[in-house]
Amino acid sequence: MLRVAVVGSGPSGVYAAQALAQQTLVPDVRVHVLDRLPCPYGLVRYGVAPDHEKIKSLQNNLRTVLEHERIDFIGNVEVGTRGLGPERLLGLYHAVVYCVGAAKDRRLGIPGEELPGSHSATDFVSWYSAHPDAAGNSFVLGARSAVVIGVGNVAVDVARILARGAEELRPTDVPQAALGALALSRVRDVHMVGRRGPAQAKFTTKELRELGSLPTAEAVVEPGDLALEPAYADPSGTLASALPAVNRRNLEVVRGWAGRVPQGKERRIHLRFFLRPVELLERDARVAGVRFERTVPDGDGGVRGTGTYEEIEAQLVLRAVGYRGVPLAGLPFDAAHGTVPHAGGRVLRDGVPSPGEYVAGWIKRGPTGVIGTNRPCAKETVTSLLDDAAALVLRPVASDPLAEMRELGLRPVSWPGWLAIEAAEAALGSTLGRRSVKIPDWPGLLGAAITNGERDGNRAEDRDGDREGDRDAGGDMLTR
Ligand code: NAP
Repeated sequence: MLRVAVVGSGPSGVYAAQALAQQTLVPDVRVHVLDRLPCPYGLVRYGVAPDHEKIKSLQNNLRTVLEHERIDFIGNVEVGTRGLGPERLLGLYHAVVYCVGAAKDRRLGIPGEELPGSHSATDFVSWYSAHPDAAGNSFVLGARSAVVIGVGNVAVDVARILARGAEELRPTDVPQAALGALALSRVRDVHMVGRRGPAQAKFTTKELRELGSLPTAEAVVEPGDLALEPAYADPSGTLASALPAVNRRNLEVVRGWAGRVPQGKERRIHLRFFLRPVELLERDARVAGVRFERTVPDGDGGVRGTGTYEEIEAQLVLRAVGYRGVPLAGLPFDAAHGTVPHAGGRVLRDGVPSPGEYVAGWIKRGPTGVIGTNRPCAKETVTSLLDDAAALVLRPVASDPLAEMRELGLRPVSWPGWLAIEAAEAALGSTLGRRSVKIPDWPGLLGAAITNGERDGNRAEDRDGDREGDRDAGGDMLTR
């Protein structure tokens, strides 16, 4: 039997598991999909915005994969802790596919970035997605104006959530505390700011268009910003027609908004371009605004500064300037790209493929593309793995990897545990008069998983773990 661990249960991990389970070259295969959280689906659960229900429903497809007879989901297992590093994993499995994504946000590297009120968009997303590691509940407290730096799809997501009324989010699975905070939000102006022009913006057109059809917010575009965009200003349309289709469509959308009469809605999303952030401004030890330098196109797809500046008032600043991969101890890492070096998905150690070690998803190719991009990416990796399988199965591995994990003090949450979390979230929703509502903390998640789903799966002595912080509280709950 070929035993494979897939580390990470987001789209790339699940697609890798699916490719392994569905292939016919090596019929006798067993796949363990490990995740550090007790819940599967990665960014589909903890990144896709709650109001994007159609994309969220992709969870149903991922669920079908994880219920495949050759696949086991094993949550609450953090690779890299308690001695469960890459070397140990190779003693438990013939092959390991790392699908750990890009867990951190990129930084701006400008003064004031650390001020209270300045956050990464990923922190804000984690909060409204009920990630158990999310910090704080005061993003919108006291804010009237928000600046979102960056014009990618994450920027669009956070701008839209800030601009929606809480009543619009109530039917979603947004956690109750975040819903309560958003209901009290006095944010009326959200400024989404790009350092380049609308023809270079990274958002996709469907996501952009949505900003123009929100019930209580309108999209506002500054004609002065657009005038700097050569493809916009060119009356012949030649420059625009040379753009990739998505950029051309984006330009048309903002062109339509530029001349629009204000609709007088309660909130406004201002799309701004050709403004480069240079400093976050401070008042009373909190962020009070952002100072931008006006830029102009450099004729080569980039921009150059003009030495003129503009300040935008904001009590909340979210930087949405991309994710970055983080190194996993024991795995090689290319710090410049935030990825693991690989050839066709085979992890390279000192330039040479390391037998049994593979990568897929953002940690392989960087944080780009939509969810579906992960499918061919994972397939390529699995093809490499299957080519190597005959040699990989010759290496002896542990007969019961789960028992070994428990020996290390880990408390795996398996599929019944996850189903118990789902049931607890549905029950929470019904007590609140809402649909399923996400549990936002470790004690709640582990309490639901282990008390209701894993009673017999984890031995009593495993429950006295010494996890840090909130996870300790989870441990306490289990022994109560
Ligand atoms: P992204 O698409 O790479 O966009 C990052 C934005 O930040 C760009 O506008 C970039 O401008 C800007 N930026 C980078 N460094 C900057 C700096 N120092 N100062 C000012 N601006 C800076 O990243 P993302 O929005 O985090 O999205 C990551 C991936 O997830 C993308 O593939 C995205 O499509 C995907 N995603 C998809 C959805 C969806 O489909 N609904 C939702 C969320 C995320 P430059 O272009 O000038 O560098």
